[in-house]
Amino acid sequence: MTLPDHTLNDGTTLPAVGLGTYGLRGIEGAEAMAAALGEGYRLLDSAVNYENEGAVGKAVRMSGVPREEIRVTSKLPGRHHKKAAALIAIEESVLRTGLDYLDLYLIHWPNPNQGLFVEAWEAMIEARERGLLRSIGVSNFLPAHLDLIVEKTGVAPSVNQVELHPYFNQPEQREADKSHGIVTQAWCPLGKGSDLFDDDVITSLAEKHNRTPAQIVLRWHIQLGTLPIPKSSSSARRKENRDIADFTLDDADMDKINGLTKPDGRLFDADPATHEEF
Ligand code: NAD
Repeated sequence: MTLPDHTLNDGTTLPAVGLGTYGLRGIEGAEAMAAALGEGYRLLDSAVNYENEGAVGKAVRMSGVPREEIRVTSKLPGRHHKKAAALIAIEESVLRTGLDYLDLYLIHWPNPNQGLFVEAWEAMIEARERGLLRSIGVSNFLPAHLDLIVEKTGVAPSVNQVELHPYFNQPEQREADKSHGIVTQAWCPLGKGSDLFDDDVITSLAEKHNRTPAQIVLRWHIQLGTLPIPKSSSSARRKENRDIADFTLDDADMDKINGLTKPDGRLFDADPATHEEF
């Protein structure tokens, strides 16, 4: 049993569960990603700053899975937000993968103090028009940042990839995304594991449904309508993370998990209003 894909506001599609690739690099990384594609994963979430776009492209070719069935995501770093630099950076991403196009490209962080994300968004629109990218979106954009790029260009992103897990479930951000027809993708969807997997709420639901804590958290994402991209270099864990189609959390279960969220629940204290990454 597999979960249905999501259709984005530009008509392209994304799988309900993707593979995070931060830290999967080099030949070992490419082999892990190719194995994931063999197991049924169809989305690889990369970024210029993960320094693994080459491994991602290699994994696509090694997997034997038809290119058009796979979604490859990468992300524009803050140091390339000026329009001309952004266009070259996008071309270089495509070249590093060795693919003809990327399926989804995101502005990695808005870096509002730098004040160039509207220019970066204009470059993304142009790159999509040129056929380098199939779909364009953003990451870590707060509601005000979304409003500004839509106001300046008339083009809404297809995706906003934000920190989202049971300790930080972002109801206002999800509403803002939805108001623009933007799909919310969840980074650190498992809260990086550890604490969350020992939480009484999660372990008791795991027992109730005879599932692992990771599966409970990922099923919660599916029912919330967010798209998780859990990372794992272990085949057994990757399989477990996609095997969540055939059970349902009831409303009381969902309420319990939603009750875990905290206003200061961010894992790294990286508030996009002030945090900058280059
Ligand atoms: P995650 O929440 O996916 O957790 C990963 C950790 O959980 C790893 O240690 C992994 O071994 C463990 N794990 C995975 N499946 C498990 C299972 N079934 N049982 C037990 N442990 C399991 O955290 P992440 O990797 O930081 O985030 C996922 C992806 O999100 C990244 O790889 C990256 O692609 C993306 N990301 C994006 C941004 C952004 O700014 N856009 C920031 C951080 C991460």
